[in-house]
This record gives sequence, structure tokens and C-alpha cells, in this order.
Amino acid sequence: MIRRTECNLKPVLTHSDCWYLTMSVENKFDVIIIGTGAGGGTLGHALAPSGKRILFLERGDYVPREKANWNPRFVNIEGGYNTKEVWEDTAGKPLHPHTNYYVGGNTKFYGAALFRLRKEDFGEIRHHGGISPAWPISYEDLEPYYLKAEHLYHVHGERGVDPTEPPASGPYPYPPVSHEPRMQRLRDDFARLGLKPFHVPLGVQLDEQNRQTSKCIRCDTCDGFPCLIQAKSDAQVICVDPALAYRNVTLLTNSCVERLETSSTGREVKEVVVEQNGNTASYSADIIVVSCGAINSAALLLRSANDKHPRGLANSSDVVGRYYMGHVNSVLMAVSKCPNPTTFQKTLALNDFYFASREWAYPMGHISFVGKLDGETLKAGAPAIAAGWTLDLMAKHSLDFWLTSEDLPDPDNRVSLSREGKVVLSYKPNNEDSHKRLIAKLESLMQAQSKCSTHGYQCYQGLFARNLFFGQRIPLAGVAHQNGTIRFGRDPKTSVLDVNCKAHDLDNLYVVDGSFFPSSGAVNPALTIMANALRVADHLWERIH
Ligand SMILES: Cc1cc2nc3c(=O)[nH]c(=O)nc-3n(C[C@H](O)[C@H](O)[C@H](O)COP(=O)(O)OP(=O)(O)OC[C@H]3O[C@@H](n4cnc5c(N)ncnc54)[C@H](O)[C@@H]3O)c2cc1C
Ligand code: SF4
Repeated sequence: MIRRTECNLKPVLTHSDCWYLTMSVENKFDVIIIGTGAGGGTLGHALAPSGKRILFLERGDYVPREKANWNPRFVNIEGGYNTKEVWEDTAGKPLHPHTNYYVGGNTKFYGAALFRLRKEDFGEIRHHGGISPAWPISYEDLEPYYLKAEHLYHVHGERGVDPTEPPASGPYPYPPVSHEPRMQRLRDDFARLGLKPFHVPLGVQLDEQNRQTSKCIRCDTCDGFPCLIQAKSDAQVICVDPALAYRNVTLLTNSCVERLETSSTGREVKEVVVEQNGNTASYSADIIVVSCGAINSAALLLRSANDKHPRGLANSSDVVGRYYMGHVNSVLMAVSKCPNPTTFQKTLALNDFYFASREWAYPMGHISFVGKLDGETLKAGAPAIAAGWTLDLMAKHSLDFWLTSEDLPDPDNRVSLSREGKVVLSYKPNNEDSHKRLIAKLESLMQAQSKCSTHGYQCYQGLFARNLFFGQRIPLAGVAHQNGTIRFGRDPKTSVLDVNCKAHDLDNLYVVDGSFFPSSGAVNPALTIMANALRVADHLWERIH
């Protein structure tokens, strides 16, 4: 029986002239990839030249190219591109997830900060809030794929500055994105305080030497927005569209996978059941790759329970859906008398407090930036307005920090399904003391800034004495960095996937989105998802040949 789920909702956006959306395709493939984001899109791109028949199934459509792509009100206040699907929290309260269902997945909206995890993140790390467990592979196993992913996604960066940077077998393919003057001043202040600020590695197709011909125009609507001119290195532009140039690759949009059916032994997925604009279709393949994002992939496996897999597909360990992580994140606005006219703010980061330090025996986390906030966007989650300031004025004078501490895996932080088949997200925050320390650290650093050239010492002292910090933990609906729900490992009793990201319990089922993370680290996850997809693609390439 097919349980009705949110998949049955009519898609919010349609793309009626998709030439490839055709019901006449045959239904048997060599590889089916479910989801076209960082994991699925990258894997499909790597397998496309294999000549094997590959089918992408994507529940969303293409993001429409329209002026609203760059409209902060539409994107941030109205949530114009967010799914209208409603999930629930443990209390049964509706949850409107900030996530996006489109070709390219959430990379269409990401800030394109493409970090490697640190070498140490692959081992066990003791945090104030508990243990971050070791991965079943080492940093060295993933390193060649990190380099490949950096080349594929046009990453701009600079090696040798970030003090926690892991060893790399080659330079970044493109030079770092320059700091605008206010960011450069902040960088210099941090350096003066003995810190090691560095350029955020970014996947934008910007050529600062040739601005007239550069694809990217360095605008102020990047982080959180789709790129109207296709200059962001997202999974659609970089992977899915080029993969579709191969005759053996097919994409079906508006195709939401509802469940996976197995053979009578339960060892193989035999059928992929899909809802397409109100109709049900089914497809099969020798290899099935699930890559719906950590929350939806877990939900799909749980929905696919059957006699052989009573707790959910591939769930003999009872681990599917558990260990949900999303990072401990805050956006902090440091408002000063001195304006911040930066257009593209996400160029600067600090990792001096990523690990245990002389100041604290435990890791605190990573400091970087979100895209420049504007008054309109602030209305969506307006902080208390400081006396004498309007939201617009505050936005014009703020440095908008993004702070990340590691979220630790907890079996009770989990994805499950309600009786109606809705996603239920249970989450209790952890490791919060580390995050509070990180916030306090940033506050003290800001108070130690040099005087600004416009306001002199009065500004300098007044600024920091009256500096207005508005800390806001990202709420539960902020699932941008979701990971961990289908962890990989060597022991089938405590993990769902083996080291190749194949389900222990099945012979032809793989998962390549952010679900496989056994720990979350404290840097953005997308490059690790992409690099791992390339690693799994190498394994699959051998298997399908
Ligand atoms: C605003 C924002 C900013 C971000 N900034 C950064 C950043 O700067 N750096 C960084 O590293 N990360 C960033 N992220 C996170 C990053 O985008 C994700 O980590 C990454 O996209 C996750 O990749 P994934 O393959 O796991 O899932 P996704 O990219 O979400 O892809 C999942 C795909 O599966 C599809 N799907 C879901 N369910 C089904 C189904 N049942 N049937 C068929 N298809 C389905 C979805 O439509 C989607 O296309 C950001 C995210 C957001 C939202
Ligand atoms: S033009 Fe550049 S900065 Fe603007 S959205 Fe596109 S990639 Fe981002």
C-alpha cells in the first residue's frame, strides 16, 4: 500500500516546457539517483561518462529564472522558494522547514562556502558537551576527492593561512575572493590581535581580474538566494545540466519518490515508486542511490518498511533517522556607528577557536559571515531594535557574523514519521556551552578593535561600549546543515551504511547525501558531501563495469 505523504502535494512551481519530462521513457535503468543536490547531482555527473543508463528522479522543478530570484522580500520574508510542506516537532506542533526542493537541491540557495572538514574531525574529539565520534575512513581517504570537488565546483581560496587547514595535495584552482574595505579592516584588526583570519573558500565563478567577462558580478544577493545568472557553483549548473548532455542520462522533475520496494528476500530494491503530478509510476535499476537530503532520505527509508524490514528499509540497527545533526549556529550582528557598505560579505573567517586552545580545554567552533543582511530581511526574524536605530539603519551598520559549533550525535535527536506519514523532527540542543564561549569570544574581539578612521576614538570606544549584539540561535526549522541520520560505519549494529555508503542490509542501495556523517564538524558540510559522492562514484564505476 502506498501511504499518502506530503509528496502528493501539487508542486508549487512547474516548468511545463521541460523537454526531458516525458512519460515515454522506459522504466529500467542501470542506476537511479533520487535527489539532485550536492550528493546526488555530483554522483550523477561523475557517472555520466560511464555510458550506463542513469535516471535522476527529482521531486522539485528547476528554480524559475525570474527577477524574484534576487528579491530579499520574496526570498527571505515570504519564503517564496521554500517548500510549503509542513513537518512536526515532537509536541506535534507544525514546523515550516527552511528547505528547498529543486534541481540542484539546497545548493541552489547555499552561500557556496566550500570547506574541507579538518583532519582531526575524522578522529574522535572530546567536546564540552560530549564526544564527537571517529569516522570509519580517514582524512587521507577523502583528500583526493576534496581536491577533485574543489576543481569541479570552481573553489576560490588560499592555502596555508587557516591555522586548522588540513594538508592538501594541490592548490585551490582559483585565487581567493578579495575582501571589500570594511572586511579588510576587520581582517587586519583580527590579525593585529594575533589571530589568523583567512579567506572563505567560495564556489562562485568570479574573475576579479576580468570583471567585464566574469560570470559572477559579485552581488549582495548570493547566500540564501538562487543565482539569477547561473554564476554560483551549484549542483544544477555544475553537475546536473552537464550530465544531461550525455544521451544515457535522464532527469525526471516533479517526481517525488514515495517508497522503495524490495525483492522477496529483502536484499535488493526492486522498484522505486514515484508520484508524478498526481500519478504513480515505478522505475527499477541495478543500483539505487538515495540522496534526498538527510531528513527526507531517512523519511523515505522509514516509509519503505515492509515484512523483511519492519523498522524501515535498511534499519536492522534501528539507527535510520537517529543522530540527526544540524550544527549549533547563530547569526550575530555587530552594530557600530561606522557603516558597513560591503556588498559581498562572506569572504572572511576565523578558525582560531576550532579546537581546544589555551583559553579553553574544548573546541568552541568556527566564525564566519552570512551574506550582508538588509532591513527587509531583518523583518523576518527581527531582533529587538536598539534605541535610536531602525532595522534599515542597523542593517547598514552591522557586521553579520555566522557562528558554528559542533552539534554532537545523539540517538534521541531524530527523524521519524507521524501516523499520517509526516516528517517529525525531535531535537534537543547540545554542546551549547561551547557556543556561548564562542559568542563571548567574538564579543571580546570586537571590543578590542582599533579606532575607525571616520569616528575616531569616540566611535571606537563608544562603539564597543555600546556595541549591540543580537544573538539568535537558528530555530529548529533551520535545517540547512542537516546531516547524520543514516550514518556510515564498519559495524552493522551501530551504522546503516558501510564505508562505501552501501546499506549493510541490502546489496544495491546506496546513500550519498549528508545523511552519512557520523559527526558534523563545525564547518559547512557541502564540500564533504560532494567529495564523498565522488568517492562513492569511483566505487560504483568499478561495480557497474
Ligand atoms: C540558505 C542556505 C545556505 C547554505 N550555505 C551553505 C554554504 O555556504 N556552504 C555549505 O557547505 N553548505 C551550505 N548550505 C547547506 C548545503 O546546501 C547542504 O549541505 C547541501 O545542499 C546538502 O546536500 P544533500 O545532497 O544532502 O541535499 P540537498 O542538496 O538538499 O538535495 C536533496 C535533493 O533531494 C530532493 N528530494 C528530497 N526528497 C525527495 C524525494 N522523496 N524524491 C525525489 N527527490 C527528493 C530535493 O528536492 C533536493 O533536490 C546551505 C543551505 C542553505 C539552505
Ligand atoms: S552573481 Fe555571483 S555573487 Fe551574485 S548570486 Fe551569482 S554567484 Fe552569487
